[in-house]
Amino acid sequence: MTMVEADDFVAGAPCLDFVNTVGGIRSGACKDKLESYDDLVRWAVLAETLDRQAGDKLLGLAHAHPDTALRVLRRAKEFREALHAVFATALAQRPPPRGALETLHAEIRNALPHLRLSRDGAHYDWDWEPPDSLDAPLWAVARDAGNLLTSDKMNRLAECASDTCGWYFLDLSKNRSRRWCDMRDCGNRAKVRRYRGG
Ligand SMILES: [Zn+2]
Repeated sequence: MTMVEADDFVAGAPCLDFVNTVGGIRSGACKDKLESYDDLVRWAVLAETLDRQAGDKLLGLAHAHPDTALRVLRRAKEFREALHAVFATALAQRPPPRGALETLHAEIRNALPHLRLSRDGAHYDWDWEPPDSLDAPLWAVARDAGNLLTSDKMNRLAECASDTCGWYFLDLSKNRSRRWCDMRDCGNRAKVRRYRGG
């Protein structure tokens, strides 16, 4: 079983971390960390796009409505595929497949009505209304994807240099020298391979 872990959040943007919940795409040995609806909630809590209390509420709701939870999980995976297509084509400087952009638009349309302002002292910030529907883990992902695609951070979008990884991240290093999703993982494997001369 593949579990979502805190170490998985290496991308620098929640929407890319979400795409990265599938690994090893190019090697054909696909590891999907979203095996159940509960995994989706666990991911969102670790991503800090959902607080723990909201996560617990959604888990309770999911156990009461398992069919709806399963539908949301399928939708989450379709959304993830669409995001992957959008970022992959952006990286290749090609236009996205139309279906992928339509899926992203649908998720943005669904998410934004749940936005609220919260006030902390004299400071206002964007916040989400308390989640009352099972698709709440997707709201922040959709908004983050829209924010990233329209920001100048897009010219920092990169794909891990490992042949078998396929993870995306934002290379925010000063000289744009980051090659690996994670130095301890893919970067380390590459170093070991070089050392072994193979
Ligand atoms: Zn990697």
